[in-house]
Amino acid sequence: MTTHVTVIGLGAMGSTMAETFLKAGHRVTVWNRTPGKAGALVALGAHEAASPAEALSPAAGELVVVSQVDYRAMFDSLADVDLTGKVLVNLSSDSPSKLREAAEWVSARGGALITGGIMTPPPGIGRPGAYTFYSGPSEALSRHEETLKALSDVTYIGADPGLAMLFYQAQLFMFWSGLTSFMYASALAESAGLPVSTMLPYAQETYGGLAGEGPMGFLAILAAEFEARVYPGELNNLHMQAVGMEHVVHTFEDAGLDLAVPVALKELFARADEEGHGAEGLGSIIESIRKP
Ligand code: NDP
Repeated sequence: MTTHVTVIGLGAMGSTMAETFLKAGHRVTVWNRTPGKAGALVALGAHEAASPAEALSPAAGELVVVSQVDYRAMFDSLADVDLTGKVLVNLSSDSPSKLREAAEWVSARGGALITGGIMTPPPGIGRPGAYTFYSGPSEALSRHEETLKALSDVTYIGADPGLAMLFYQAQLFMFWSGLTSFMYASALAESAGLPVSTMLPYAQETYGGLAGEGPMGFLAILAAEFEARVYPGELNNLHMQAVGMEHVVHTFEDAGLDLAVPVALKELFARADEEGHGAEGLGSIIESIRKP
């Protein structure tokens, strides 16, 4: 079924989303704060609105997809626009509290807000495997689910509008911290005069093992410990690992490398040890994370 979609924001993401909607056969209206970014989309059949008010006129249909740098940009762009009857789907990054504020802001202007965290860069939009965390009013999402599926799979998390970003930021934190650890490890290999490729197979085994079901499958093991709030440490207690983390810091120090991330981990491990978790397992660190 074809429909009309308005896309607000023509950065790398918004432009690809508009193009994807066009290729899926939808009618598309676009608007961007800085003019001059819609040429290729207009050539594909999009209508470029001269203002946000025109882009969100009643004639433009119900569905408005927003992709901007943050939610402040939506407040700036749509401050003077009547949102009566509109369903805004904001796929920009921000914090859960900002999304909850935005849901009230949109509702006060007569519209409904669906929040989303899209889990793919531009080349993955519309490709198999791409998915988006959505939260907010489920009936409004259901009404537009078929259209939104042009961008990615639709993964609904719940009615609280903050949830989309809670899940999105959690994923990004794992992604960035995991890859940053690999950067530190690679720099360590280089410091010994070895090419990074010598480290790669061991990194692949470590990261792959964490997500697996075997004895190194620590994501599943720790998830069960976190829910039970029990952290067995007989075979590898936290105190031993806090001392070991100091050795990691010394290793980076000896290699003349940056210490910011290793020191942050060392301090977290030491605090959990001091807070009485030394005889428990590594997973007990979550108790110190829960109580900063
Ligand atoms: P870009 O930097 O390419 O584009 C940013 C967009 O925001 C531009 O359209 C810009 O308009 C607009 N904008 C910024 N400030 C304002 C403002 N005050 N008022 C109106 N418009 C404003 O970013 P991306 O397209 O890459 O990312 C968009 C969102 O998607 C971000 O929140 C990002 O975190 C998220 N995201 C990005 C991914 C990626 O790989 N790129 C992956 C997943 C999510 P103008 O042209 O006028 O400057």
